[in-house]
Amino acid sequence: CKIDYQPAPNLLENRIVLVTGAGDGIGRAAALSYAQHGATVILLGRTIAKLERVYDEIEATGGPQPAIFPLNFEGATLKDFHDMAETLDKEFGRLDGVLHNAGLLGRITPFEQYNPELWQQVMQVNINGPIWMTQALLPLLQASDDASVIFTSSSVGRKGRAYWGAYSVSKFATEGFVEVLADELDNQSTVRVNSLNPGATRTQMRRTAFPGEDPFTLRTPEDIMPTYLWLMGPDSTGTNGQKLDAQPPRV
Ligand code: NDP
Repeated sequence: CKIDYQPAPNLLENRIVLVTGAGDGIGRAAALSYAQHGATVILLGRTIAKLERVYDEIEATGGPQPAIFPLNFEGATLKDFHDMAETLDKEFGRLDGVLHNAGLLGRITPFEQYNPELWQQVMQVNINGPIWMTQALLPLLQASDDASVIFTSSSVGRKGRAYWGAYSVSKFATEGFVEVLADELDNQSTVRVNSLNPGATRTQMRRTAFPGEDPFTLRTPEDIMPTYLWLMGPDSTGTNGQKLDAQPPRV
């Protein structure tokens, strides 16, 4: 946990970073924060109006001009991921980082009642889509001399919890995939891959999962950005295959 990390103002200067689910919640905060620290951010998500608002905010604060990439993980095909890699290759020629942040909660419900279509949907958005997107983007990441790939996990991806169904299983799969890919990349690539658990954070997803909770007892997406910056930037070069937390566990 690097919540006390003090990033250099130009930490991500000249870096091209893709953020998924960049229109809202933690992804929005990460896109703004990466841009504030000098990155050219590619804003990926399914609701274009939200991405446009983040785009305007970055422009208004004088960050490098971002790019918008509309994509819905639910219907996205391998071809979409390869077309995307081709477009990014033409535009930028490389990628210095990917924050896999887009996520779907599904339903908190007893497994006996879990709808199989919803289960597939959650697996598609939270892990299968991101895996094939990563495969398509690997050549671009390898073209960077220091690329960081961050997968977003959860405490229920490290210890299972009753009723969390596909969401929990998708986050365990995320942790597993990070272990496999990190082991492949270890010592032979300039690309590193790690998992990051944001911890309880004041967003719409958290409100849906815990409707009775007072959101003001929670850290905001902005509060947890130090670890997101550390893991994306050069101060974490060499960190590979680790499971990080963006905030200390709540007592
Ligand atoms: P939000 O629901 O606030 O934001 C999720 C983002 O993912 C939104 O931008 C959403 O787009 C996007 N998204 C959802 N489905 C798709 C899809 N099919 N295709 C493309 N984009 C999609 O959630 P958080 O910010 O809270 O969560 C961000 C990440 O952090 C998730 O991976 C979540 O699992 C994880 N996390 C969050 C915790 C918390 O306490 N908040 C705790 C532990 C983990 P749109 O706005 O258009 O719907």
